[in-house]
Amino acid sequence: MTSGHGRPVLPETVLVAGGMPLGGELRVPGDKSISHRALIVGALGEGTSLLRGLSDGDDVRRTRDAVAALGAEVHDDGEVVTVTGGRSLLHAPLGPLDCGNSGTSMRLLAGVAAGLAGVTVLAGDASLSARPMDRVAAPLRAMGATVTGNGPRCLPPLAVTGGSLEGITWTPEVASAQVKSAVLLAGLFAAGETAVRERVRTRPHTEELLALAGADIEVTDEGAGRTVRVRASSLRPFDVVVPGDPSQAAFWVVAACVVPKSALRVRGVYAGETRTGFLSVLRRMGARVGLDGGAPGPAGAAANGRGAVAAGSSVGAVADVTAQWGPLSATVVDASEIPSLDEVPVLAVAAACAEGTTRFVGMGELRVKESDRLRAVARLVSAVGAVARIEGEDLVVEGVGDAGGTGGAGGVGGASGLHHFRFDSEGDHRMAMAAAVAALAAGPGESRIDGFGGVATSYPAFLAHLRHVGGHARVQLVAIDGPAGSGKSTVSRAIAERLGLDRLDTGAMYRAVAWAALERGIDPEDAPGVAELAHEAVIDPGPPDVVIDGVVVTSAIRTPEVNRAVSAVAANPSVRAALVERQRAWAVAHGGGVVEGRDIGTVVFPHADLKVFLTAAPEERARRRREEPSEGVARRDQLDSTRTASPLVQAADARLVDTTCRSVDEVIAEILSWLR
Ligand code: C5P
Repeated sequence: MTSGHGRPVLPETVLVAGGMPLGGELRVPGDKSISHRALIVGALGEGTSLLRGLSDGDDVRRTRDAVAALGAEVHDDGEVVTVTGGRSLLHAPLGPLDCGNSGTSMRLLAGVAAGLAGVTVLAGDASLSARPMDRVAAPLRAMGATVTGNGPRCLPPLAVTGGSLEGITWTPEVASAQVKSAVLLAGLFAAGETAVRERVRTRPHTEELLALAGADIEVTDEGAGRTVRVRASSLRPFDVVVPGDPSQAAFWVVAACVVPKSALRVRGVYAGETRTGFLSVLRRMGARVGLDGGAPGPAGAAANGRGAVAAGSSVGAVADVTAQWGPLSATVVDASEIPSLDEVPVLAVAAACAEGTTRFVGMGELRVKESDRLRAVARLVSAVGAVARIEGEDLVVEGVGDAGGTGGAGGVGGASGLHHFRFDSEGDHRMAMAAAVAALAAGPGESRIDGFGGVATSYPAFLAHLRHVGGHARVQLVAIDGPAGSGKSTVSRAIAERLGLDRLDTGAMYRAVAWAALERGIDPEDAPGVAELAHEAVIDPGPPDVVIDGVVVTSAIRTPEVNRAVSAVAANPSVRAALVERQRAWAVAHGGGVVEGRDIGTVVFPHADLKVFLTAAPEERARRRREEPSEGVARRDQLDSTRTASPLVQAADARLVDTTCRSVDEVIAEILSWLR
């Protein structure tokens, strides 16, 4: 499903079943960090760069839209994204650059904006607007740019006034790849040399891509640290394959380690040392994980629907990661092992399954991620039945596992020892995915994860991949029944949109059959004739269009002739059998959804998560269905309610909502409250 602006939407609430072993192989989306940088360095290159396997998550789309707003030309043919850039094309944008939830976009683009004449405003959503930008503002100011934000920690929106910059040598207080990148990108526009000294090495993708684009750049390792020097240079275009994102691979690697009897292979993952610290942590815990080979395949292709693509240059080392279920024991994890701390939420799930007490040392930075992740991780660990404590900057997890027990992460009977749970990720994508991994490990039964929609920011195919490796996840099924004019369509559309679910209008299916019968000269009362038609017709209920046997009938099914014919067609038990089967198949294919009709809660989905029966006063219903004469509406209601096959009745466990004189918002709020 996609939203109005073509962005993928995922359901807000997901129910994940545990107890199924995971197996097989998969490719995770193209690395986000590399994708952002490939777009930006591509926009700076003089000519057209080809980017393959680019992440299609929301964050990277923000950077993509931003480089276009800065003057680069961006095209996506479904397999390859091309970026045509160059100094002469780039300019300060006309309006603010909307970075959404993406801190990477904001910090990196601040570096580019510092090099452009004029004012660039960088804005973000509420969560990004609470994230400090002072660490990136300080070096850019030292280079000569003016950077303003809110308050002492320079909260977004940021206004960057760029222009003539001077090179500096900068030693960030806290190692940060984003700050380093911003300074290096600004350094491309600065007079003289710009150097960044890191006490601890951070992910090197900006350096890797700048080198690929022929920048005047020099990298020197010094103990655990590194110095990167860059000078103003003209960049050339490049052709690159973005490898799989190790921080996304980490979810599957940990899942294989903690879900009994599982084994998984994640193909074509970026395997540079700064990104694979989580594998060392897992190895210390006794996990059976490995790095295999180094084929630079088109990583991300399968995940983001870009299909197979010819290989360009690879960025850094690429390998398959393999992982297998087995007993885990506690360890000590230092923040420096997991730069940017992205894998901490899922490593905490591994720690919850392990025997003993794992300490994550120096996790303060987690407080300023997409959510207060330190608190969120502790909440998740407690929800699954292990013990979590925050001690200063440390997170302490007492696992429930039994490493020497009956085999498996947790011991007893091959189970992980985790409980089923209910968890609200509050929109934080990594927390939602870590919770899904915990749910897969939590033995038979379902866990409920709220706030799941945020996963679309980085891994739109996550649920599809979960099913691909054998996990079971479903979304909620909401049944909305009621007579004509009771508000079913408006309400079900709004509920579907709010929950990120797909919607099925079953009335449109009966109408399509009625239309086809009239079209073919079949009398709607001719039960065998209409039944044969219904069994043979191919119906796509949309959205966007209702199509029967290849003919688009979206508006043709709303005519007075169809209104008059449809109740007879719908009273035909054989027609109902044919359509009910397809309605059930639709729900399986969509993993749930919002389904509206007359018999959804009683016959089609008697086990729906929520059943709503809408009604309204007859005069109000007649007013809402102005296009249909009121006697027609009344006749249809009468036929629908008195027929023998699945008459319109309120299911015993359906909630009755009278929509007379109530606003849509009020009704929606009431229905949503029942789902919480
Ligand atoms: O919802 P709508 O008014 O478009 O439905 C048209 C007709 O389709 C209804 O009057 C009813 O006869 C039939 N119908 C049905 N069962 C459903 C949905 C619609 O019988 N689940």
